[in-house]
Amino acid sequence: MNRATTVVIVGAGAAGITVAASLRRKQPALLVTLIDPATTHYYQPAFTLVGAGEFDFARTQRAQSSLIPPGAEWLQDRVTGFLPEQQTVTLASGPQVHYDYLVLCPGIQLDWDRIAGLRESLGRNGVCSNYSPEHVTYTWDCLRNFGGGTALFTQPPAPIKCAGAPQKIAYLAADYWRGRGVSAHARLHFLSAAGALFSVPYFSKALEKVAARHGIEIHLQHNLMAVNGSKRIATFECTGKDGAKTRLEMEFEMLHATPPQSAPDFIKQSPFAGAGGWVDVNPHTLQHVKYPNVFSLGDASSAPTSKTAAAVRKQAPVVVNNLLGLMAGRQPSPAYDGYTSCPLTTSLNTVMLAEFGYDGKVTPTFPLQPDRERRVWWLLKKYGLPPLYWDYMLKGYDWDIPHRPYPIS
Ligand SMILES: Cc1cc2nc3c(=O)[nH]c(=O)nc-3n(C[C@H](O)[C@H](O)[C@H](O)COP(=O)(O)OP(=O)(O)OC[C@H]3O[C@@H](n4cnc5c(N)ncnc54)[C@H](O)[C@@H]3O)c2cc1C
Repeated sequence: MNRATTVVIVGAGAAGITVAASLRRKQPALLVTLIDPATTHYYQPAFTLVGAGEFDFARTQRAQSSLIPPGAEWLQDRVTGFLPEQQTVTLASGPQVHYDYLVLCPGIQLDWDRIAGLRESLGRNGVCSNYSPEHVTYTWDCLRNFGGGTALFTQPPAPIKCAGAPQKIAYLAADYWRGRGVSAHARLHFLSAAGALFSVPYFSKALEKVAARHGIEIHLQHNLMAVNGSKRIATFECTGKDGAKTRLEMEFEMLHATPPQSAPDFIKQSPFAGAGGWVDVNPHTLQHVKYPNVFSLGDASSAPTSKTAAAVRKQAPVVVNNLLGLMAGRQPSPAYDGYTSCPLTTSLNTVMLAEFGYDGKVTPTFPLQPDRERRVWWLLKKYGLPPLYWDYMLKGYDWDIPHRPYPIS
């Protein structure tokens, strides 16, 4: 009797669960093994709303065991390395696991320690971050307790997951403080290591107006280097127009910090890593450039697009169809166009729905002007997307409304 084909999936986050569920739905005879040490799965896109007191933290979490698709196997372990010639992955607990096909989606690594003092400061003295499940509720504590003074919101160098998230919380905080009447005593600063407010100029222009309306001062090419929580001082490295570097110290009452991020170390050190340490895939087929039986999607892949769960939603069917096609002897199809989406919360009841693909091409799903702030997108973000994530995407259903290029004059 023939041995069943084995697909091993490293990482059971947004990408891993979606691919596993879809594979099991389309090809129940496949042996699908998910490897992930985490017992809790987070719906991270709602962390922005949790930080602004608009979403219950408990509703962002589900037991990993409840999400493993029927018939799939879950090894609760950490992958430490790979032997591609032997088609095995090595687990932290010791054993090696064989695969016929491998899907790599262990997410992105949060490098808190690259900012001196940040890890020790988090969760007290007004230092918070929506990027930390342990501290996201502290962001809301900081917002509620802010009585005026200086509030800093920082963004590290790219790439990071959800590149809009560092500024989304700034707009929500500004709107909340305006409603509570503390804005008059507040100075709000958004400090980014990047050279623009957003990677796509079309949305960047619109966001500059949003920031101005909220009275938020923008400082580009300001990279957070150190935090002294007890003294409430943040130190930035600033790059001038001539490339000269200077240091700037700013006092704060509240600091929302976004950590620098990179490919997970075990991926960086693996034979699958390409430039920057990401899993080196063809950006359109998501197949590894050297190992044809290996695919990658989500935050860990080299696909040069903004890293979001929305991107995963469009990447997963491409990986699944190309994997199944490969098993049937077909060539992978170059079906992924870089689609990603960032619902930018511009106030406590509006969202600008930024949807775009490779090279910053604006690609909306609905025939509406994309740079407009709309209440309907707020309702979509807060009430529509969470059930779509839990009940459709993670269940492996194919649901897609095609997006289209938007003519920009
Ligand atoms: C504050 C914030 C706001 C966001 N907002 C949005 C938004 O509005 N819209 C949007 O679409 N996206 C948003 N995102 C981004 C989105 O959550 C991610 O892009 C998405 O979860 C990526 O999916 P993934 O499967 O690649 O990684 P993850 O979902 O992070 O999953 C990675 C999994 O890999 C596992 N893993 C790690 N190392 C190993 C190992 N060695 N062995 C085995 N398993 C391992 C981890 O335990 C984890 O379960 C936001 C994220 C944050 C933090």
